[in-house]
Amino acid sequence: MKKNLLKSMLWAVAVMAAVFTGCKKEKDSLKLGQGLYQEEIAFLINDMGFLASDIIIDGNQIIVQGDMAFDGENFWDHFSNEQVSETGGSIVERKHRMVGTTVAIPNGIRNITLNVLPSASYYSSAIQSTANAWNARNSNIRFYCQNGSQETEIAGMINIKVANFGPSSTNIMAQASWPTNGDPGIRIRINSTGPAMSPSQQIYTLIHEIGHCVGLCHTDTNDGYAISNIPTTCKINFDPFSVMRQGNNPWNGFSPCDKEAIKALYSELPVSGGTYKLTHKGTNQCLDVVNNSSNPGTNVRQWTDNGNNAQRWIITLESDGYFKLTHKGTNQCLDVAYNSSNPGTNVQQWTDNGNNAQRWAIQLQADGSYKLTHKGTNQCLDVAYNSPNPGANVQQWTDNGNDAQRWIFTQD
Ligand SMILES: [Zn+2]
Repeated sequence: MKKNLLKSMLWAVAVMAAVFTGCKKEKDSLKLGQGLYQEEIAFLINDMGFLASDIIIDGNQIIVQGDMAFDGENFWDHFSNEQVSETGGSIVERKHRMVGTTVAIPNGIRNITLNVLPSASYYSSAIQSTANAWNARNSNIRFYCQNGSQETEIAGMINIKVANFGPSSTNIMAQASWPTNGDPGIRIRINSTGPAMSPSQQIYTLIHEIGHCVGLCHTDTNDGYAISNIPTTCKINFDPFSVMRQGNNPWNGFSPCDKEAIKALYSELPVSGGTYKLTHKGTNQCLDVVNNSSNPGTNVRQWTDNGNNAQRWIITLESDGYFKLTHKGTNQCLDVAYNSSNPGTNVQQWTDNGNNAQRWAIQLQADGSYKLTHKGTNQCLDVAYNSPNPGANVQQWTDNGNDAQRWIFTQD
């Protein structure tokens, strides 16, 4: 129903365009995939059934099959009154949804740079607050700010700039682009002729636009795709506190459903600086330093939960996006012996040496446990033979996807 209705509308537009323009506008057009109008193009391909090869971008216009021209900035005006629920019937308000693409996380954590171009330097403080708020989610995307020395966008970063959106857009605070090819949206533009924003409204707007850059849609309109693994309440109820609502709102924190949506797309990792007990999923024993000895090279094994510091680890996020695990009782680090890549190499404690032998990716699994993958060797933290015996050795082993390599983190 939806597709047919929209398709007939689009053909009506096509006929009009053919009558009044009668020419193709392919000259000087850009190829697709340059970051412009990704949501609109995805809609044309996924919902309307056009081929990617049917669509070109010409300036700020999206041209379909040669002569259907849409103003990219106001693309959704063509469709806003026609959006109906998938089951038919009345217009519904969209809840927590996503654009359909997300930022790729190759391993561990993806560090994303917010490149503040000179035109946006006025917003530096709000942008830093924005990064801090996102980072407090402990997700596997982390944001770092840098000041661009010139007004040039850098690929792979979110480039933040100020631009004049023109007289027809004075009600718009900012715009953002969607994730593309695993990278976050390449730009956030703040409207120099948009509504005045208090510092709190600046932060709300920037946090909102970052949400778009990582794939979140508005929570008060009705397009995008469902986020599957969020609580039902976040799927069916309007969220009056969501930062993904449209509007010039003050920042009052992420709503509970915002947090669920972020967690669903970008995991939830241990808090950097937090102290944790690691309990093995397969054996229900704890990651333990033998006799709580402080000697470098002391073995790490599993042992029955005894509640003391021999089984406590301080988790620290390092600048490379990996974690260091420092033993609370001995102040030594969780280490693969000689950084050897052989499966079965022993895991021990060793003096903090700052290198890759002591760096681990921590990845949330669907069952709520975590897999730890060693940065230097790409092998997983593993209990030998998944033995339930207290004292069974902890080693590294090739990723085998089973419970011998799953750990439950409990924060002190
Ligand atoms: Zn928005």
